[in-house]
Amino acid sequence: MKFAMIGAGAMGLRYGILLQEAGNDVTFIDTWQPHIDKIREQGGVYVMRDHEDRHLVDIKLETPESYDDDPDMFIIFAKQMQLADYLERCAHFIKPKHYAFTCMNGMGHIEKIQKYFDDDKIIGGTALIATVLPGPGEVDFMGKRGAGKLNMCPLNEKPDQMCYDLFNELDKAQMNPTLTDDFMGTLMTKVIFNSVINTICTMFEIQMGEFGNFSGFDSMARQLIDEAYDICARADIHLVSSRDEEMKALEVNTRVDMPLHYPSMYQDMINDRPTEVDYINGYIAELGRKYHYEAATHLFVTQAVHLAEYHRQNEKAKRAAEMKESLIQSH
Ligand code: NAD
Repeated sequence: MKFAMIGAGAMGLRYGILLQEAGNDVTFIDTWQPHIDKIREQGGVYVMRDHEDRHLVDIKLETPESYDDDPDMFIIFAKQMQLADYLERCAHFIKPKHYAFTCMNGMGHIEKIQKYFDDDKIIGGTALIATVLPGPGEVDFMGKRGAGKLNMCPLNEKPDQMCYDLFNELDKAQMNPTLTDDFMGTLMTKVIFNSVINTICTMFEIQMGEFGNFSGFDSMARQLIDEAYDICARADIHLVSSRDEEMKALEVNTRVDMPLHYPSMYQDMINDRPTEVDYINGYIAELGRKYHYEAATHLFVTQAVHLAEYHRQNEKAKRAAEMKESLIQSH
């Protein structure tokens, strides 16, 4: 198949490179200039797996302005707050026949994608896979080849030939896809999962195992899950796991599968980028409001993450001022 990746960050590169290695024609589209310059200068992207085996992979790279082709499918991996700008810049090459697939975290992206793609051609999903972009031109795939999995579901919940073709290519690329039959349920189950792990680990800047093995893990996780599940029940969203299954998945993910890993939201925090918390816990709280349910815990942790972001920015500004002062004094 012919794919164009809108967003060549950590996940865009992981999906795109694995699909390319499985024999597909893949072009990457990105907007982050230092990343674009580095990839062009070094003749590709340096790929690692669990920090090892660093090797150069040749990729086709364009910007939204320079891309002018006709793929079978666009795969979209931007951060939630970047997406509107990305889509606007890409609008000139998106045609009514085009399909879009995405496994972005949080909620809010589907409505934006619907402005550019027909509902019958949107496939959403969730990815249980960890990837890090250590810097421009470099990507680190966490986990062995074949590790991780993804759920996918067409927005209209009626898989067509293109959806099956995508499934087969993802399967060949060893990305372990599962085709589900409930769009909102699939996406929201992952939003709730992220609303516990990503948020708590990011605000305390801790590895997932530290949270999973903490004595208060069960009650903290259960409180966030109960609120989110109560809201989804009111909104008539059919989650694909029960509350107990979601708790079990959190335990296994933090204690067994990835105890030494930091969630992807943490990467944003330490790189002084805004987090997606408003699209995760913030989205749950907003949905609660719509159904007259006060999601007090989700509201609280949304603000707690913003406080952690604010604190980092203040510390950074303080350090910069101190450095400037010491430079002035040394002259
Ligand atoms: P990313 O930040 O690595 O890349 C997204 C875009 O941001 C790319 O265009 C990239 O070039 C650009 N970018 C990266 N660093 C930048 C910087 N310092 N300054 C400016 N631009 C920068 O994002 P991602 O990890 O690929 O995530 C995409 C979506 O997938 C998100 O919704 C995320 O939550 C979700 N997701 C990520 C992971 C993961 O492990 N990384 C796992 C599951 C889902």
